[in-house]
Amino acid sequence: MPGVAAFPSPGAARTAIVRVCRRLWERGLIAGPDGNVSVRLGVDRLLVTPSGGSKVDVGEDELLEVDLAGRVLVGVGRASSELAMHLAIYAARPDVGAVVHAHPPTATGFALAGETLPDGVLPELICQMGAVALVPYFTPGTPAAATAFAPYLSGHEAFLLANHGATTVGATLDAAHQRMESLEHAARILLAARLLGRVTPLTAEQRAALQAPARAGATPAAPVAAPIAAQTAAFTAPPVDGGEAG
Ligand SMILES: [Zn+2]
Repeated sequence: MPGVAAFPSPGAARTAIVRVCRRLWERGLIAGPDGNVSVRLGVDRLLVTPSGGSKVDVGEDELLEVDLAGRVLVGVGRASSELAMHLAIYAARPDVGAVVHAHPPTATGFALAGETLPDGVLPELICQMGAVALVPYFTPGTPAAATAFAPYLSGHEAFLLANHGATTVGATLDAAHQRMESLEHAARILLAARLLGRVTPLTAEQRAALQAPARAGATPAAPVAAPIAAQTAAFTAPPVDGGEAG
């Protein structure tokens, strides 16, 4: 199944990525040149943040369109140093329309401790992303990311990267971004509970009630491969346009 575009036009995608980069910075989820964000523009191309530079200042015309082999199609400069990670995710997950990578401090603290967030404890975590995978360490910015991620890509929407940071995915950029915010928020709550001395898990019945399909207005439990056709009507990328590259 080919991947689906998460935006009706490249321009809308550029605006959305810039907004998400600023919100990541405002929430303290990235610092300095940290972080990278991408969205799927169509079956054969992505839009991704550039390498280097503070993402809080990234402009729409600095984003790069790349093909699924990582070659720059539109834009100047180098795509994110973590492009290999993004490409591996899109290749394995046609349901994914956006990828957000950041260094959320508390969640990354869990990754440094060599553990993931406990599953079956916080309703929001269960409903928004399910179990969080812990991906073994790989040298950042290298193709080793693809090998490290491979065993965890199926069935996970959020990933802690050992000694590094976190990555979230979603059918839409909003979904991937919200998961990153919620991942860090949950990590802070869990750390507070540990300081108080106890983390109380939900019972099996309580977890089952969260995932009951009859629950009105429920956010579907992960994995989110749900229908996104309504917002992802087939988008045919326009010819490469120098004006778009900025
Ligand atoms: Zn990173």
